[in-house]
Amino acid sequence: MIPGTSPARQAPWRLELARAIVDPEELLRLLELPDALLPAARRAHAVFPLRVPRPYLARMAKGDARDPLLRQVLPLAAEEAVVPGFGPDPVQDLAAHAAPGVLRKYAGRVLLTATGACGVHCRYCFRRHFPYEEANAARERFAAPLAYLAAHTDLHEVILSGGDPLTLRDEKLAEFVSGLRGVPHIRRLRVHTRLPVVVPSRVDDELLAWLGQSPVPVILVLHINHAREIDEPLRAACARLRASGVTLLNQAVLLSGVNDDLETLVALSEGLMDAGVLPYYLHMLDPVAGAAHFAVGETQARALLAGLRARLPGYLVPRLAREEPGASAKTILL
Ligand SMILES: *Cc1c(COP(=O)(O)O)cnc(C)c1O
Ligand code: SF4
Repeated sequence: MIPGTSPARQAPWRLELARAIVDPEELLRLLELPDALLPAARRAHAVFPLRVPRPYLARMAKGDARDPLLRQVLPLAAEEAVVPGFGPDPVQDLAAHAAPGVLRKYAGRVLLTATGACGVHCRYCFRRHFPYEEANAARERFAAPLAYLAAHTDLHEVILSGGDPLTLRDEKLAEFVSGLRGVPHIRRLRVHTRLPVVVPSRVDDELLAWLGQSPVPVILVLHINHAREIDEPLRAACARLRASGVTLLNQAVLLSGVNDDLETLVALSEGLMDAGVLPYYLHMLDPVAGAAHFAVGETQARALLAGLRARLPGYLVPRLAREEPGASAKTILL
């Protein structure tokens, strides 16, 4: 056997993913929540399965069905509501596929849907109805996307997205990063991920090794929606990433019942800065079917942003943004 390839050695983060909570009944039991929530949770789970890693669960309050972290992952009866304007492909990703797993919708940048897998299933996710099987950029060592990048010299940034690209094995990601050496017009690598948030042990030596070997600067955009998601293990993971030269930004989604009040958003920006992460976007909810109960109106969103500007230095105020189908950039609301 080749040293280091022993099947007995599973990275701790992979073990965490394997033991994530995927049964609504177990989630309710562990959090000491009433059984009355179970029938609806089971129905919504049949449409988009529950998935909650234990390190994320550990940050939730017991006995509180309205906990802002729980609300992001608990399947609810409200998901069954049919609401006009909320559909299966709100940002029309299906229309933007340039090659397998290659989404071409922003000028100069290209988005690779590297995998359909995620470490956590967020109930508001716009990809909950996405046909992932057709969007696997990581197949055959990223051959199709690397060929696409090489053929398009107008591209300067590659964005690994998903699903969650950090659910891929480090060997695969390392191959992609070394493949970038053959595409000199690519000047930046960006990775959008929520995995280090929900499983901080994802930031391990193997991850830092390929990040450190990138021929271009790496920007990691974390998806943190609430200050209580930032615990000591996550702060330590962020410190290691920063020490490796990675730029850390955050993209939050404005979610009713999670972070739609001023104090919560101030605490989020300050918590991010304490962890060495700059707030980048505060995203309006994409109108995906099953997530209408998370929607925050534009008037309230603008008022919250004005409140943040009155309270915080400019660099701690995220850009309030919305994805418009077919547009070549996000629309900035404020
Ligand atoms: C908005 C967005 C991008 C690109 O937009 P920028 O304005 O370049 O930041 C890429 N990936 C995801 C997931 C996004 O939401
Ligand atoms: S793509 Fe992001 S928002 Fe959607 S389920 Fe995965 S981690 Fe959550």
